Amino acid sequence: MKPTSRDIRTANRYEVLRQIIAESPTSRQELAVATGLSLATVATLVGELLDLGLITEVGFEDSAGGRPRGLVAVDPSGGALIGVDIAETYVHVELFDLALNVLARADEDLRPGESLPEQVVGHVAAGVGSVVAQAGVEAARVLGVGVSVPGQVDRDSGVAEYAPNLDWHDVPLLDLLAGHIAHPLYLDNPLRACVVAELWFGAARGRGDAVVVNLGTGVGAGLALGGGLHRGVSNSAGEWGHTTLVLDGRLCHCGGHGCVETYVGAPGIMQNLRELSPGSPLLHPGDQTATIDALARAVAEDDPVAVKTVRETARYLGAGISDLINLLNPEVVVLSSWVAARLGEPLLAEVRRAVARHALRRPLAATEIVLTPIPTDPVSLGAATFALEGALRSAGRRTPRRSATARSRTAPPS
Ligand SMILES: [Zn+2]
Repeated sequence: MKPTSRDIRTANRYEVLRQIIAESPTSRQELAVATGLSLATVATLVGELLDLGLITEVGFEDSAGGRPRGLVAVDPSGGALIGVDIAETYVHVELFDLALNVLARADEDLRPGESLPEQVVGHVAAGVGSVVAQAGVEAARVLGVGVSVPGQVDRDSGVAEYAPNLDWHDVPLLDLLAGHIAHPLYLDNPLRACVVAELWFGAARGRGDAVVVNLGTGVGAGLALGGGLHRGVSNSAGEWGHTTLVLDGRLCHCGGHGCVETYVGAPGIMQNLRELSPGSPLLHPGDQTATIDALARAVAEDDPVAVKTVRETARYLGAGISDLINLLNPEVVVLSSWVAARLGEPLLAEVRRAVARHALRRPLAATEIVLTPIPTDPVSLGAATFALEGALRSAGRRTPRRSATARSRTAPPS
């Protein structure tokens, strides 16, 4: 599908706001340099964002010899955004101001077996109600709720088409949520959310090509190509967790055998541990979180079985990440999500060693492998930015006053 002029205008407005959030206060001149848009286009877009109350004028700065430049900054109190991270073992909800500072958070644990859509929707609704109450914001000031759910997602219809680890097929998630939540809702998956979070605030800032390796119960690779999120033609790009690592290998939830995920997702790591030491006290059968936590503690104490398990996991991970590096030649590979957060530096060190054994020298030399520097949950942060994106898109329909100017400067009318 070709982008329409409205899409381009929304994207430009979003790009300018993103830059203002990243570097507040800033001037129109600096924004033009940072975004590559003309000064006139930036001035128009800044005017729209001021009209919408998302940013404010905050004074002037001297420019060497010239006229003082007006400065703008994001208005944190201009609205609130909510990001929801639905995972296989928990629902995590955060409420942000417009500078994307966390004002409130709520955690709901999903007990093993508690993954029916109605149950998960109940937890999401409870979490959203809780953060709004904690932050004390008026409901009308919530610009939107971004929801991340694992697996294949149809953003337009709001349907979670296929989430193998939750055993969901064609769940009309946004319709179910709309029965409990009155704010505008936006759906996507954690691969997309993590990439957006890294592009805005993390290791992918200012970098053209980046891969965010999501290590949780499920596994995937979020892709930023040419400085933007890569979705693929049907929003399915990045399903690296279901690429084949071992021919005729372990059975996967997707029905295949030997998928990357079955060796490096949390249940796969449990299996690696089980194969190395079947009776290990680190194993908590049926409880991934407890097992990964026990493993992380044992690695810190140099427990030989735990160290070996992480090394074995990194061997698989290294082979899979090398494929991504050879294929995409990224500037940075970011390890993200809860398993990466818990296993941390010891896993990173082993992964770097393993990747060095597999990747081609030239792309490897151009790639940095890092843990996510984002201190909070990158998925809920990314989900909240989807809500911000959605709010800007719908705001565009209510401000026709300036649209003629902006359209003529960005693209021919469609
Ligand atoms: Zn699979």
